[in-house]
Order: sequence, then C-alpha cells, then structure tokens
Amino acid sequence: MAENNQSDLVSKIVSLCKRRGIVFQNSEIYGGIQGFYDYGPVGSLMKINWKNAWWTDNVVRRRDVVGIDGAIITHPRVWEASGHVQNFTDTLVECKSCHKRFRVDQIEDQKKCAECGGQLTEPKKYNLMFKTEIGVIEGEKTTAYLKAEACQTIYLDFKNVVDSSRVKIPFGIAQIGKAFRNEITPKNFLYRLREFEQWDIQFFTHPSEMEKWFEYWKENRMNWYKSMLNDPSKLRFKEHAKDELAFYAKKAFDIEYDAPWGWSEMEGIHWRSDYDLTQHSKFSGQDLSYIDPITHERYLPWIVETSGGVDRNFFFMLLDAYREEETPSGETRTYLKINPRIAAYKIAIFPLAANKPELITKAEGIFDKLSQKYSVDWDDSSNIGKKYRRQDEIGTPWCLVVDFQTLEDNTVTIRDRDTMSQIRINVDEVDSWLEKQLNSKYENIKS
Ligand code: ATP
Repeated sequence: MAENNQSDLVSKIVSLCKRRGIVFQNSEIYGGIQGFYDYGPVGSLMKINWKNAWWTDNVVRRRDVVGIDGAIITHPRVWEASGHVQNFTDTLVECKSCHKRFRVDQIEDQKKCAECGGQLTEPKKYNLMFKTEIGVIEGEKTTAYLKAEACQTIYLDFKNVVDSSRVKIPFGIAQIGKAFRNEITPKNFLYRLREFEQWDIQFFTHPSEMEKWFEYWKENRMNWYKSMLNDPSKLRFKEHAKDELAFYAKKAFDIEYDAPWGWSEMEGIHWRSDYDLTQHSKFSGQDLSYIDPITHERYLPWIVETSGGVDRNFFFMLLDAYREEETPSGETRTYLKINPRIAAYKIAIFPLAANKPELITKAEGIFDKLSQKYSVDWDDSSNIGKKYRRQDEIGTPWCLVVDFQTLEDNTVTIRDRDTMSQIRINVDEVDSWLEKQLNSKYENIKS
C-alpha cells in the first residue's frame, strides 16, 4: 500500500475489526472506556491462534522451555521487591482548565495545554499500577495490585518449577498472561492499552553463558516475527542507549515495527542478570539459588527475558496483512493476508444455492468431515460475491464451493484468498490437499 495511505490505515482496520467481529470497543453501549477492548467471534479465534502459534513454537516444540499460567493477583510484597511500588511511574501534567492529563515525555510545550491552551500544572509522579483490596472486613483489607507485568509469577514459581519438573539450566519458563497498567494516554487502538496480555520467556542460564543466550534469543525472536509477518522490512532492532539501561543490564534491544505513527516497540529482549531472583530472595527470605546436578555449584541463575505484547503485536500483524486492490471488474477488494496459522477459519464452505437440499446435504457432509480437524466456516447465504468479501476481510485462506457439478462428478472448487485463482478437485482429496497447503505453503516456522 502506498505510503500516503498509511495515515488512514489505522481507521480502516478499526472499522474492519468492528464490521467483521474481530475487535470491539469495550462497553461501547455506555460510550466506551479508554484503553480496554474486547475480541469478537472472529477475533477471539484469531487471538487464540496467535497465542497458540507462539506457545507451540516456544514451548511445545522445544525441550528447554516449560510453561506456567500464573494468577493475576500476587502477594503485595512482590511489587515492592520488583521496584514497581517505588518506580513504576510516569510523570504527568494536568491542564488547569480542561483537566486533560499528558505524559511529560510526550508533549512539546510543558506549560500550555495542547487541547485548549490552558495552563498546565507542575509535573507530578503517577504510579501506573491498578490497586485493589483483598479481604472483606473493613480495616483488615490488604492493598494488592493487578499484575503490572506478567513475568513476575515466573520468578515466584522458579523454585517450584525446578523442584517439580526435570528442567536443568539452561532452560526457560514461558507464560502468556494479563498485565494491567493505568496508562495516562491509551492510544492507537490495541497499541497502548490499560488491560493487555504479554508473552514472556524468562530463560535461566549460568552467568558465564549469558552473552551466548542473549544473542540467541534476540535473533530467535526477530526470526519468529519475520516468519509470522509478510514484510520483514517493517521490523528492526533498536538498541537501548547506555543511559537507558537498568543498572544490572549490560544491554537491551527492542524489536520494533514500522507503524503508521512511527517505529514502535513490539517486544523487549532484556539482560536481567540475577536481579529478579536476588530481589525476591531478599524480600521473601527464601533461598532461590540453583544447584547444578553435575558440578554441584550453587548459584543464582542469570536471566534473558523476552517480553512482547500479545494485543499490540496482533494489531501490528493486522497492519502488515491489510490489503486493498482493484479487481478486474473495477471494484476494490479488501483482504487480510494473514498467515493461515492465525486465520480464524482455515476454509469456508459455501453451498451454491441455499434452496437446494441436495447441495446443502453434500456441503454439510464436507463440513462435518473437515471440521473434525480444522476450524471451518459455513455460509449458505445467497450472494456468492458477498460471501467471498466477508471471508477475504477476515483472512480465510480458502473458500470451497459446492455446486451442481459436485452432484454429478463429486468435485468442488477451491478459491485462494491471495490470488483469487480457483482449482477444481475431488471431494475425497480436499482433506489431504488442505493439509498439504497448511504444511508447505505457509508453515514457515522451524527455528
Ligand atoms: P512502552 O515503552 O511501549 O510503554 P514498555 O517498554 O513499558 O513499553 P515492557 O514493560 O517491556 O514495555 O513490556 C513488554 C511488552 O508489553 C512491550 O514490548 C509491549 O509490546 C507490551 N506493552 C507494554 N505496555 C503496553 C500497553 N500499555 N498496551 C499494550 N501492550 C503493551
């Protein structure tokens, strides 16, 4: 798509997401609430596939990574140990007239409101964590926090994982989990949310192998995103400057996406050394060190962290996939060129005429067979053009039509989303044909 179309790309995707049941504004009937979104019937399937692709490639297909699924609320001391209670702040100013709040690092004029020209307050620190209370009796309630980052439960469960599984260093613990941040200015659709999910790997290594594993994960994660998206030129690394690094980090990189509003962080690759386990050892009083089963060396492992935003990167995936093209008949065709692993449906089945019971019965038979193995959509509405348009817009890679010829020779047509080309094959071959397509044409993750 031409550069000058980039600016309306976001609004086109927001509208497509609503129209096709991918993402809805949360609480829309009440006017919406900033920074919160819901996934609709199509989007929830796509998001499950998005997370499954990450989980499959990083946990299921690896012998050195195991997964956990931690709670949203943890002991309040966790956030003291992690430094969030003290330091997880943004500095904001508020307009004295319209009361709009701005992050100081995101405005040019620190004295005047960009919205109404009113005077701004002095900057003040603002903690981004959501607070809640545990317990029912007034006066005995304890303040707790919703997870500000998903990874903390990995550190908390480190000892339990080592004691209960057969993991040996080097190994990783992966988790996909919710995170909550009271962002001052949620914006750009799914990019900056107040409730979102993160996919994290904390990879535990001997300090002497930290450099090697850091470089390994940096490349591995970039290659993964390249394999999931169409356009690798939209991806790059950004190294953190020395003065941006945490005191324990030797280096850190972001994987960035070239979004319509500029290069933006997708995922961080962080050098965490033994900081987190040291902090939790100190605050909990528990020894979190690891004993090497062969050398018997006791040490606190060092950690390479990879932490990405599931929703934010889902949005980047949509930006990468969105296509508009003129058809030979002069219409504009919109389609999502998404990896079939992520598509809500792998194939859609259309009986050509809804009022012909023999066609419906034949198509139902194909649906019943294929839906044992794949996610399959069904559409028996009357207008074939509209049916294709809907499937194109949600990124269904193939559409299968059962027509009158099917009743004569047991063949169906299959149309390709990206090329619109059609083939005619025997019904009995559809399953193996589809499997072959999914395995060869698009199955490109083998890191
Ligand atoms: P940013 O600089 O964009 O605020 P961050 O550096 O604070 O992000 P991390 O704490 O490293 O982010 O979180 C890891 C990942 O979680 C980020 O790379 C991003 O993809 C995602 N993420 C962070 N904040 C948000 C948010 N408010 N909404 C959606 N995704 C987010």
